[in-house]
Amino acid sequence: MKKIVVKFGGSSLANAEQFRKAAAIMKENTARRYVVPSAPGKRFPEDSKVTDLLYQCYASAEEGKDFEKELEEIKKRYQEIIEGLQLPLSIDQEFYEIKQQFENHAGRDYAASRGEYLNGILMAEYLGFPFIDAAQVIRFDSNGVFLPEETDRIFHERLKQEQYAVIPGFYGADEQGVVHTFSRGGSDITGSITAKAAQADLYENWTDVSGFLVADPRVIPDPQVISMITYKELRELSYMGAGVLHEDAIFPVRKAGIPINIRNTNAPKDKGTMIVANTCMPSPFTITGIAGRKGFASINIEKDMMNTEIGFGRKVLGVFQDHGISFEHVPSGIDTMTVFVKEEEFSGKELLVIEQLYQKTEADSIEVEKGLGLIAVVGRSMREQRGTAGRIFSALAHAHVNVKMIDQGSSELNIIIGVDNGEFETAVKALYDIFVTIQL
Ligand code: ASP
Repeated sequence: MKKIVVKFGGSSLANAEQFRKAAAIMKENTARRYVVPSAPGKRFPEDSKVTDLLYQCYASAEEGKDFEKELEEIKKRYQEIIEGLQLPLSIDQEFYEIKQQFENHAGRDYAASRGEYLNGILMAEYLGFPFIDAAQVIRFDSNGVFLPEETDRIFHERLKQEQYAVIPGFYGADEQGVVHTFSRGGSDITGSITAKAAQADLYENWTDVSGFLVADPRVIPDPQVISMITYKELRELSYMGAGVLHEDAIFPVRKAGIPINIRNTNAPKDKGTMIVANTCMPSPFTITGIAGRKGFASINIEKDMMNTEIGFGRKVLGVFQDHGISFEHVPSGIDTMTVFVKEEEFSGKELLVIEQLYQKTEADSIEVEKGLGLIAVVGRSMREQRGTAGRIFSALAHAHVNVKMIDQGSSELNIIIGVDNGEFETAVKALYDIFVTIQL
């Protein structure tokens, strides 16, 4: 029988009504065997996520303040779901233990993990599935670094014993049983690890949008949904800010060749986005997606005869390395080299970096430009099509956007364009129109 691992995000499990939708999705297909829930998310825009409430509550406990009221608020969130679903379940004992652990300084990670842990207990009860505590099957070292091989071994053995199960997302534990969490949004990673351990056919990630969008909806109203995307394309888009899935969630399933399907709990008929290792299906618009971010700076270094100087690039990048600044792109000319960095990483260190660049490279001039945006145009089909770069430039020229930089990745999977922050939105619109709107 097919095996599907299903992860529900926080907004998909925020209240009893959302739990009902999730359960209906589970019932619709018996191949949906392993469920990874997040903690309850926001029920309405101004609401708080339970994870945030847990962090706050634990901070109060650490400061020696009375945290009982805050903990009571959290309990109410679960109580509301329990009552809404009429579950024969008491969580008094669980909260008694949580309170004691908070008093004993069990740690921030432990505190945050209770959001998923409790939601997992509720979900298991509601679906009638066994509950597997992630602390038993997801391994970290004592520094909080995730251990993939060990986890896969333990988890795989455990899942062999259960046809169906609920495994809470976001956390695991070290050998001593100390709880560690992934970074925020990390239930996506648990879902992926579970899919690998279960040797699943598919990893469904249910959230509150119908998949990845071709462009950011804050810039392009009602953009098209990406129906199929490769892991590589997704990496490029996620890096440039297209968030729906935690970046690290790709790795476990990618190695195992398990596709991920992003689905919408509130629109279960929508097919969502399929993320696959490879596909011969071309993307419908030449490009697969456009993503970008503002807030970059460029440092342009000029030196006569730079091209003949062996090791020049190493000296330049060494200075950035020494200051703990990672570089994004390094376009170069014959006597110029430009380094793109994140403004927030660079700003406080600017004077020192420039001084050292002069010292180490004996540059003729160094110029800094801030307030830049980078836009990535990503698509597996660009390689086969002529004139993509030409279309990009002519679209931007027509929109009066001044292109500051262009960098085509050697995989021909992406073209990165640097523009002024102020022209960022105009540029994204122009690109969307030339590739997508025109084809609709
Ligand atoms: N509940 C955690 C968070 O809010 C993890 C998750 O939802 O994936 O970040």
